[in-house]
Parts: sequence; structure tokens; C-alpha cells
Amino acid sequence: MTGNGQIREIVIVGGGTAGWLAACHMARKHGDSGLRVTLVESPDIATIGVGEGTVPAMRQTLHYLGIRETDFIRRCDATLKQGIRFVDWRHAPNGTQRHHYYHPFDYPAIDGIDPTPYWLLSGQPGRYADAVGVQAQLCDAGLGPKTLVDAEFTGPAAYAYHLDAAKFAALLTEHATERLGVVHRKAEVLQVELGQNGQIAALHCSDGKLKGDLFVDCTGFAGRLIEGSLNVPWRDRSDTLFVDTALAIQVPYDDPEAPIACQTISTAMPAGWIWDIGLTGRRGIGHVYASSYIHCDQAEQQLRDYIGPAADGLDCRRIPMKVGYREQAWKGNCVAIGLSGGFVEPLEATGILLFDLLSRMLAEQLPGHQDELGAVANRFNRRVNHTWERVIDFIKLHYAVSERDDSAFWRDNRDPQSWSQTLQENLAHWRHALPSRYDFASTMEVFNLENYLYVLYGMGYDTQLLAERFPHAEQARQRAEAIARRHSQLKSQLLGHRQLISRIQQHGLQ
Ligand code: FAD
Repeated sequence: MTGNGQIREIVIVGGGTAGWLAACHMARKHGDSGLRVTLVESPDIATIGVGEGTVPAMRQTLHYLGIRETDFIRRCDATLKQGIRFVDWRHAPNGTQRHHYYHPFDYPAIDGIDPTPYWLLSGQPGRYADAVGVQAQLCDAGLGPKTLVDAEFTGPAAYAYHLDAAKFAALLTEHATERLGVVHRKAEVLQVELGQNGQIAALHCSDGKLKGDLFVDCTGFAGRLIEGSLNVPWRDRSDTLFVDTALAIQVPYDDPEAPIACQTISTAMPAGWIWDIGLTGRRGIGHVYASSYIHCDQAEQQLRDYIGPAADGLDCRRIPMKVGYREQAWKGNCVAIGLSGGFVEPLEATGILLFDLLSRMLAEQLPGHQDELGAVANRFNRRVNHTWERVIDFIKLHYAVSERDDSAFWRDNRDPQSWSQTLQENLAHWRHALPSRYDFASTMEVFNLENYLYVLYGMGYDTQLLAERFPHAEQARQRAEAIARRHSQLKSQLLGHRQLISRIQQHGLQ
């Protein structure tokens, strides 16, 4: 500790996406008040180097941190993401075409009449996403979500980004050190010195000793401080989410003008699923799978088959994953943010979202004095654990409502014994009632009503409703017409996604 019990020296260990986000948030919030932020990262331990999909909250973060969208797009090979297209997560109803559904970011239907019950009562005609909005069709047509005259961070359709993880960390490094005053030390933490109160007193690094008042562990799955020194256990959740390994291949485009998908594509496989993310110069494609259901060689073959001849001669990286979260993300004067604090499979791009959210929460709730650490930590931990449990429920939902039974992986996922009590109760309730806002009561739930509606009804979940409770069929029909008009209007305004990105790269946004 640096003296008199005040919290003035923040030390962040780890220079991956989580470490730099934590540093930026801390410095952005407290840089003007004399608080010093130091980030120490090992020059020899690589970052995980994956994590390419985000959710719309990233736009607010860039804006808040003062990073221009145009710079971000140029520097991180970023593209725009309007949602996720899920392929093969259920059997095709007619057995011929492959099933797909969208989880887009827009949910415009909530104000005014909600078409959901009318769509359900008429037997779920067509795709749910088309019944409530236009974004699935924009994705089908390969259109970007904004025009060149839309201001930075806005557009007629909601969007997030796909990005190159290493380039994003480099941009955050520059921003943190050059604009926000973060001190950067390239050194490895070799030993952690604990004080008599059991809290971290100092770090012994390869370049000397480093004292601090609060330490943020962003050392990835290693959890060098939170686990290696403070012995906080990991709450393993592989009993619910079975996938534990990833294989990743970077695939260049054959043609530099090839269209770029404006959504993540997630294709279900016999023991997991494949992500497919289009950046400007390459696609990032990976297979996340449950190693107890399939051998690594077979999983790699399935990934290479998915990619086709373009995969020939390309390296495939294997990444073991720990699924779960720390029992206490915050212990004493150490807070774990990033893979050190928790992780679930990247099906809904929750990693960066949660690490960003927790970094901001930590910065905003930072106590002024050591005496307050315990109480703030308890509240923080309660919220964080609740958030992880609800995220796990939402990821599990994707499997739980699938009727796929073609492999042990899918059959075991459908077994309610692997679902939480909350998910079991919700799914039983939603057999005869629409999901509602009241089912999502906490401000720390990152997946809410709209997200559940898209997945449940994209997957054809059967909710039996009393027709007489929904007497506004004519208004619902008018709403459908308005959606169709909006679609044709946007189609004529929006550019193809690659074209839009190229123009932003060349000329910037106005
Ligand atoms: P890392 O990137 O592992 O960084 C750890 C840092 O700690 C490094 O700088 C290292 O040098 C440093 N370090 C370690 N030990 C020491 C030491 N002793 N001394 C000093 N420094 C040390 N998230 C998403 O939001 N979207 C996605 O699409 C997505 N896809 C993913 C796919 C896979 C397969 C995996 C595994 C994760 C994915 N994630 C995704 C999560 C994403 O990777 C993480 O959010 C993100 O990269 C944060 O990692 P990190 O900073 O916690 O750890």
C-alpha cells in the first residue's frame, strides 16, 4: 500500500483487451483527480488473441472513452455487426432446407403494438425477426446499417462491431497511454507480496517492485493474482455449458472485394458450433466444441470441411477454455476482470461486453479509502455472480430449446437437469405466457426481453396464448405493413457492407 489508506495507485496486471479496457475506464473516470493508473504486462506471455465479436454497448464505450469510430474502424480492420445468424440450431421443418434464424440488435416493435402474440397466434408464419423488424433482411441483402452521412456511432439500424483483437488492444494501448495518462510497464509479475492483512502490498516484477492500493488482475485464464496468490476458487460451470475448447483459423479472402457478412454466422455442429466473422482483410473462423464428446482431430476436420479448400495450408490454433467464474471477483484489494474473472463460450459475444461493463462499474464504484473495500467488494461480487448466472442461462437457452437429437451432445443439452432452476421455471412459464419485462428485473442483466424473444421464437418455441386477450389484429397488420415500408425505404438508402466500410476507411464519416 502506498500510505494513509487512501486509494490513489491503481495497478492493472495484463495487457489484453480486458486490461486495457480496465485501464481506459479507470483513467477516464479518475485521471483528473490525481489517481495514478499503471498497467504492467509481460512482454513474453501472449494475449489470447481471439475475441472478435461485440455487442452494441461497444459503441457507447468508444464514444465515452473518446475514440473516434472512423479511427477505430481503420485501425482494427473493423466491420459492422447487426446481429447473429444461427444456422442448423434446429432441424429444418421440412427436412430439405437448412434451418436458420436471426438474433438482430434492433427490436423496434416494443413501442406501439407488439406483433409477437399475433405472429404466434397465426401459427408462426415466416421468420420471427421479419415479423418485428427489418434487420434480418438487411443482413440477407448484405447491406450496412448506416449511411455515410449518419454521424459517428449512429445509424438507422442498431449495430456493433467485428474487430481484430490484437489491433484493438494496440489502439487501446495508444489511447490509454497517450491520451489518458496511463503508465505502461512491460514486465512480468514474478511474485506477489501480501501484507499482514492478507491484501496485496506489492508486486515483484522482472524490472523491480511495484506498490499499489488496488490491483486489477487481467492476466487471462492464469489468474496470476486472484488465484495464484489469493487462492480464490473458480466456480466451474461445465456442468451446464459443455464446450471447453476452441480451434481458430484466420482465412484471407480470395477476392479483396468479396462481400463481408454484416452479422456473425454461428453454425451448430455435432459437439459444438462454428463462428464465422468477417473482418476487412480476412474471416476469423473457429470451432468451439466439447472435448468429452468429440476428438480434437475430428473437430478440426469438421472446421476445415466448413471452410473448404480455402483452409488448405492454414494454421489452426487450439485454445483450451475454462468455463465458469470466480467465486469472488473482488477479494481484499484485488479485482479480477477478464478471463481471470470468468468466461463462457463466445456464442453471444459476452466476453468483451462483460469485461467492459465490469471495468466501468469498478471505476464508477471505486472507493476512496481502504476501509470501504470490504463493503463495496461484497456488493460488486453479488452483482457480478448474478450477472454470470444469467448469462449462463441465456447461453444455455440456445441449446435447451433445440429439439436436435442427432448426437449425445445435443441430447444431454436438452436434459433439464443441466439447466438452472431459473431457466427451468422461465421455460415452463413461457409455455403459456409471453416473456415480459417483469421476467428481467435486474439492472445487471445483460440479456433482456428482446434477446430472449429472438432466440425463443427464432427457434420455434411454442407458447400457447389465449386469442381473446389479443384483440388488435388489425393494428398488428398495419404494423407489419409499416415494417415492410421501412424495409424498402432502407434498401434504397443503404450501401453494401464492404462498400460502406471502404468509404469509411477512405473518407471517414461525416
Ligand atoms: P488475455 O488476452 O489472455 O491477456 C492476458 C494478459 O496478461 C497478457 O497481456 C499477458 O501478457 C498478461 N500476463 C499474464 N500473466 C502475467 C504476469 N505474470 N505478469 C504480467 N503480465 C501477465 N469475447 C467477445 O467479446 N467476443 C468474442 O467473439 C469472443 N470470442 C472468443 C473466442 C475464444 C475462443 C475465447 C477463448 C475467448 C473469446 N472471447 C470473446 C473472450 C475474449 O478473448 C476476451 O474477452 C478478451 O480477449 C480478454 O482477454 P484478457 O484480456 O482477459 O486475457
